[in-house]
Amino acid sequence: MGTIDGLPPLREVIAAHDLVAKKQLGQNFLLDLNLTAKIARCAGDLSSADVLEVGPGPGGLTRGLLAEGARHVVAVEKDPRAIPALMEIAAACPGRLTVLQGDALELDVMAHLTGPVKVVANLPYNVGTELLIRWLTPAQWPPFWQSLTLMFQKEVAERIVAKPRSDHYGRLALLAQWRADPKIVMHLPPEAFTPAPKVHSAVVHLTRLEAPRYPADEKVLSRITAMAFNQRRKMLRSSLKALGPDLEDRLLAAGIAPTARAEEIGLEQFCTLARSYA
Ligand code: SAM
Repeated sequence: MGTIDGLPPLREVIAAHDLVAKKQLGQNFLLDLNLTAKIARCAGDLSSADVLEVGPGPGGLTRGLLAEGARHVVAVEKDPRAIPALMEIAAACPGRLTVLQGDALELDVMAHLTGPVKVVANLPYNVGTELLIRWLTPAQWPPFWQSLTLMFQKEVAERIVAKPRSDHYGRLALLAQWRADPKIVMHLPPEAFTPAPKVHSAVVHLTRLEAPRYPADEKVLSRITAMAFNQRRKMLRSSLKALGPDLEDRLLAAGIAPTARAEEIGLEQFCTLARSYA
């Protein structure tokens, strides 16, 4: 581990490789290695896991993961300018860091990973949300990952952990809480990043459930929640009307008042309703 400590400070790495932050790649870097080690610890024990890190940039979080004892890190970075900086970290930790250049939305990384796998990422927020939804909706459950530790814009983090009757409650909360236990484990102010973004951020840690929390067909549940939340202020007897003439009976059988609105209904009730249409 002493060899990671021997690496130059991240500001020097950025200057040496001319890694001027690019807005279009959502580059807001974490340069404080105490902070990146703290984020790495949010992922739990890494000594017996492979870590998939998406968007390592100059490698601040990568160093944190390795310093915290990750068995093996597979880092996928889209920006070719960051690869030489990441290769310097790989050289300091022989056999423990694999660097892949490419778009995480397109690259197949499975061949490089040995389970159990933990995913850790500080990604641009749009890419992060798209990957989160993909990781929560694989062809088969349980998925390849054991946990996801992801940085989000604070508002998105709140949408993931939201409970019924709150402003942030919606489809993302239902999907995440159906298949995982999500928790906000850290809040970060804009100044934690270089350059500082306009928004506050938060780290969300999601531990997968071995089976979805309540039985339901994924497609039916997704269709019902999409219809319900696309018109979240309407009563369910109106927003779900297209489900058929016996809707009100089915709502009542699921313990849902036909006059209730989507944001008042919990995950268990949505799953009960989805089962009646399966
Ligand atoms: N993890 C680094 C840190 O914490 O300092 C960098 C974080 S920065 C917010 C996001 C990183 O994701 C950038 O290095 C950017 O180049 C990379 N990135 C953006 N889109 C990507 C994609 N589709 N696939 C892989 N990496 C991507």
